[in-house]
Amino acid sequence: MGVRATNMGKIASIDLGVEHLSVGLVDAATQRMKVVYRERGNDPGFMRRVFKVLDGAGRLDGIGISSPGTIDMNKGIILGCPNLKIRNLPIVERMRDRYGVPVSLLNDAIAGVMGEKFYGAGREESNIAHIKFGSGIGCGVIADNRVLLGKDGNAHEVGHYVINPFSTLKCSCGKFGHWEAYCSGRGIPNFVKYMLNGKYSHARSSLRQKKQLVAKDLFTAAKKRDKVALDVLKVVGMINAMGIANVINSYDPELITIGNSVVLENEDAILRPIIKDVGKYTVNRVPKIIVTPLDYRLSLYGAVSDFL
Ligand SMILES: [Zn+2]
Repeated sequence: MGVRATNMGKIASIDLGVEHLSVGLVDAATQRMKVVYRERGNDPGFMRRVFKVLDGAGRLDGIGISSPGTIDMNKGIILGCPNLKIRNLPIVERMRDRYGVPVSLLNDAIAGVMGEKFYGAGREESNIAHIKFGSGIGCGVIADNRVLLGKDGNAHEVGHYVINPFSTLKCSCGKFGHWEAYCSGRGIPNFVKYMLNGKYSHARSSLRQKKQLVAKDLFTAAKKRDKVALDVLKVVGMINAMGIANVINSYDPELITIGNSVVLENEDAILRPIIKDVGKYTVNRVPKIIVTPLDYRLSLYGAVSDFL
């Protein structure tokens, strides 16, 4: 944070996702962003591809990076992201050495809430939460117009809120009963398998035929009125309402936006049960809850908001 320069021209933004990699270029004068590179999937060779895109981008005046996993924001290091096979990557130094410009690193959900505040639905609001439903579940918060970062920039690991103390479903962190074990992109297929082998072990379901279950299969099967899929989706909806209620009770935001792949591919199926049930679990007044209008570009905007 606090990276700022004058007479800016073009700022590069990198959104490093577990399931995607995007690069944008922002004209500092107009603040217009052009997404110049986007790929689905990701692998450890991503740095080479980012370099290739940026090498051909002309003169840069700054680079903002949005990263999943755990970061040390002050040292500019991605400490760990098992899904990307990253450990202790000094990404800020690598970028600075190559391009000789200021570089900043933000947690992806925090980049998300900054994107919402400066370019999205939260421009008029002082208290905003953004919740990402990607391979995990993360949250960024602006409270009283201040971005809450935490000591290393990893504030709001809400995906590991406990929503079921009796759970035997293992979370990606190795512990039990966490929100993202049920409702994230990686959690949903595990939860479906858990239910097919448990409560629904004798039930017929099209989901049983899938060799490599992915989150999307649940939503597709529910659309086709598969009974197991409809029941599981109902539980996912209820747990999402609980998780979001915890965020409302913690931070009292006036706006919550939700985004990333699980939401953007299934907007109505995710949003509707949250709106319907969140009030059952809140003590604070329920805020406006919407899908982010900046879709997949949200963290790209947020990652460079510090420069503009
Ligand atoms: Zn967990």
